[in-house]
Amino acid sequence: MYVVKLNYVNYLSISLQTQSHLIIITLIFILVKAVFQNSQILRKKFSLHYFLLIEHTFIMRLTNFFTYLLSFFFFALPMCGCRKMYYGAQNSMQENSSSTLESPDYAETESSPNSPPAPILPAENTPFWNMDDVDVSRISPTRKLIAFSFDDAPSRTLENIIAVYAAFNESNPDCPAYATVFCNSGRFDAQTPHLLTTCLAMGMELGNHTHSHFDLTTLNEADLLDEINKTDELLYEIDGKTRHLLRAPFGKANDFVEETAPTPLINWTIDTLDWSGVSEDAIYRAVYENRFSGAIVLMHDGYRHTVDALKRLLPDLKADGYQVVSVSQLAKAHGCTLRRGSTYIRARKQN
Ligand SMILES: [Zn+2]
Repeated sequence: MYVVKLNYVNYLSISLQTQSHLIIITLIFILVKAVFQNSQILRKKFSLHYFLLIEHTFIMRLTNFFTYLLSFFFFALPMCGCRKMYYGAQNSMQENSSSTLESPDYAETESSPNSPPAPILPAENTPFWNMDDVDVSRISPTRKLIAFSFDDAPSRTLENIIAVYAAFNESNPDCPAYATVFCNSGRFDAQTPHLLTTCLAMGMELGNHTHSHFDLTTLNEADLLDEINKTDELLYEIDGKTRHLLRAPFGKANDFVEETAPTPLINWTIDTLDWSGVSEDAIYRAVYENRFSGAIVLMHDGYRHTVDALKRLLPDLKADGYQVVSVSQLAKAHGCTLRRGSTYIRARKQN
């Protein structure tokens, strides 16, 4: 009886010590997180999951399994519950705010460029691509539409591409040309904000081409989302949008990539193969000879011949009754809905 009592007292004592230990470590953790909450690296490294994992190992060495179990139920689980409630509340706020926009299909909201970074929305809440803010006011309803996309931006010819567009738009205000610029945030440098802001000012759309340009079909879920989120977060600082259309590197995607990606995937109808060293004329003919209304053209930032072909394509397509637009403009003007979980290669006009 005495032995049992002693053990019980010991057990309570260790349990209380563990509780105190957990409380102190957690307070330090919360303090560190609060101080460094703007640091992306610390935010990821000091997540509660990692913290609990370290705690688990430490406590198991200090005391027995039952004490840990008791601590877990009385302390760790309520902490997880709080965290879940916190994010759950944020998500439901997003849903509520979007439901007031009279667009029941759409569940993603946006912040202004001056507001603090918004949390990346969970993919399951964004089945449809938001095109509410896509400006089609200068898209002619009588013209055929073709979308141009430039991958691997920012690269060494983005400034030239911008210059070609600026010159064309200045002399053709009745038929301005646009594009979607798919960016790799791993390429960003000091010049990037200025260049991408200029693209935005010209009415272009910024797209996500991942951070490192890995083949997404070879990545696990965490790495895949990390590749996408890094670019979305950096693009958010430029255009204030939490999500961007995704162009998978090499156009490679499978069911897993489509299901995991938080936005629709955009491939292409016309591949110029401009990256392979083909001539300016070959790039021009690939587009001009295969053109149709609703097509999406793949080109790349970084190749001189692409810029030269672009100089001829913009006026020649206009002369043939086309207007060059971004992917989202093409979809919106043609009445197409883009849905998460799908890959699109064109957007033909819907009746
Ligand atoms: Zn690429």
